[in-house]
Amino acid sequence: MDQQQVTNNLEYLRTRIQEACQKSNRHFSEVKVIAVTKYVTVETAQNALAAGIEDIGENRLEGLQEKVESLGVRPTYHFIGSLQSRKVKQLPEELSYIHSLERTSLAKELDKRFKEKEQLINCFVQVNVSGEESKSGVKPDEVLTFIENLKTYRSLRIVGLMTMAPFVENPEQTRPIFKQLRQLRDQVQLEGWSHAPCKELSMGMSNDFEVAIEEGATFIRIGTSLVGNEKMSG
Ligand SMILES: *Cc1c(COP(=O)(O)O)cnc(C)c1O
Repeated sequence: MDQQQVTNNLEYLRTRIQEACQKSNRHFSEVKVIAVTKYVTVETAQNALAAGIEDIGENRLEGLQEKVESLGVRPTYHFIGSLQSRKVKQLPEELSYIHSLERTSLAKELDKRFKEKEQLINCFVQVNVSGEESKSGVKPDEVLTFIENLKTYRSLRIVGLMTMAPFVENPEQTRPIFKQLRQLRDQVQLEGWSHAPCKELSMGMSNDFEVAIEEGATFIRIGTSLVGNEKMSG
């Protein structure tokens, strides 16, 4: 996708974000857009940066490595997919956020990986709010215990919660999912754990980001409607 197209898409996206913020009495600056580049070429990712994007998200290790190699340290990198523990060693040091922490074994490997670098890795705990079997994530009623137990992993900072809503025709139907994630986030915050400031909510994709913003999203993960899906459509 060429630069003009990405720029136009971003402009339109920002208008919609602004409207969702107004509707819910929030400020535009509270919502960060992660450009999900998993289906696009390095060139398109570069065009997104040129258009003003600062955050790049990938759901596979290989995709992340490819983008880091060609884009360097300019963007902030987010890993948003499920990750096998044995692959953690290969995560690039440039990674700032992982959105899919959902098992203790993964926490343990991440801690090892980033302890070596004396680096903190920002983690979102992925929650399976919808309860769909196909989705990964901690069960809502296990979130507090799960996070409390992460305090032994000193290189992890639990910055927030993440969820994926089911794909539905009418995005309004996703609202209860996002609302529940926000309530869980508030509960974790009340605990006041120093390893888990848990201020952020990573929720909302191309199909449902407006509802997510109205319910408090601070990071939205946008692929198709921003950079398209070149690799899918061939
Ligand atoms: C692919 C993906 C997205 C972006 O999806 P779009 O519908 O293309 O915006 C967001 N989050 C995760 C975890 C993804 O895998």
